[in-house]
Amino acid sequence: MAFFWRRKNDDKPFSSSVLGLDKSIEELKAEEERVEKEFAVRFNRAIEKTRNSINDRLDNIFQGRKQIDEAFLDELEELLISTDIGVATTLQILEAIRQGVSRQEINDLSALKEAMKNELLDILHASENKGVASETEVSTAIKPYVLMIVGVNGVGKTTTIGKLAQRIKAEGNDVLICAADTFRAAASDQLEIWAQRAGVPIIQQKQGTDPAAVLFDALKSAKARRADVLIVDTAGRLHTKSNLMAELEKMKRIAAREVEAAPHETLLVIDAVTGQNGLEQARQFLKTADVTGIALTKLDGTAKGGIAVAISKELNLPIRYVGIGEQVDDLMVFDAERYVDGLFD
Ligand code: GDP
Ligand code: MG
Repeated sequence: MAFFWRRKNDDKPFSSSVLGLDKSIEELKAEEERVEKEFAVRFNRAIEKTRNSINDRLDNIFQGRKQIDEAFLDELEELLISTDIGVATTLQILEAIRQGVSRQEINDLSALKEAMKNELLDILHASENKGVASETEVSTAIKPYVLMIVGVNGVGKTTTIGKLAQRIKAEGNDVLICAADTFRAAASDQLEIWAQRAGVPIIQQKQGTDPAAVLFDALKSAKARRADVLIVDTAGRLHTKSNLMAELEKMKRIAAREVEAAPHETLLVIDAVTGQNGLEQARQFLKTADVTGIALTKLDGTAKGGIAVAISKELNLPIRYVGIGEQVDDLMVFDAERYVDGLFD
């Protein structure tokens, strides 16, 4: 988990600037543990609103009850729905609890929480079998690794690219950014600021240029520089605008022509704050774009953080990253266990 970004057959596993070559194994381990702990604390803080909302209500509906009965399950159903966990997931959890109760395995709050955690973990892990669950699935022989970022306006695409670029670079990779959101004037400027912050080169052209042409340039440049990773920003196209979807298709064709099997990942960025609405937009996106995974942003800004489960169950795609703030280091690799533990006290 301390590793942010690793490819298959990485020939220099210890040469990242995060870990450092000059350190002993013990020092490296201690360093890793420290980073791990720090992230755990920060993640728990980001998911605090959701956790408080779940646990306060759970305590409330559990209080004064002698047993888990239908009335209790009704209240639990309402609670789960209110976290944006989704109807399908809620029903699955209730069913598991009913069975646990009838087998007399669940008779207190902690057993109830444990049962819910297990169901949630099953759902989150099942989605890891689809799409691209890890960059380690793609060999280092393929250069550049092309990562396309898609999603509607305002969800956090550009911000996420900045964060990704910084972290992937810090792990010892040469990163290049492609500013293929040529639709809005400010988009390229905003991305340039992130690129500078991360110390990563950027390929951009003037507003209105065909995004596929910018991508073509960036692919050529990435190959010439022998860049390890090319991250591609795209316009915040709405699924209803079929011309914009066609544009995305064209970009993918060009990527595949220039680099074997590119794009290797297409991340759909979803804003956790928009909850079930965001999920509906995502569904529309999936109809046309070959999305391989999800980046869930703004988890820090919602008390309805259950949306992560609804996303993996209903879109059946792995959540790769979570955004936990606006700063450059506020991005984490999604960890199902950490997430589920973070939901309950
Ligand atoms: P884009 O239109 O999809 O490129 O979205 P931007 O990257 O421009 O982000 C839109 C807004 O969301 C900006 O104000 C970001 O600072 C904010 N944002 C992005 N990710 C996060 C996150 O993980 N947490 C919080 N709190 N804000 C975020
Ligand atoms: Mg943008």
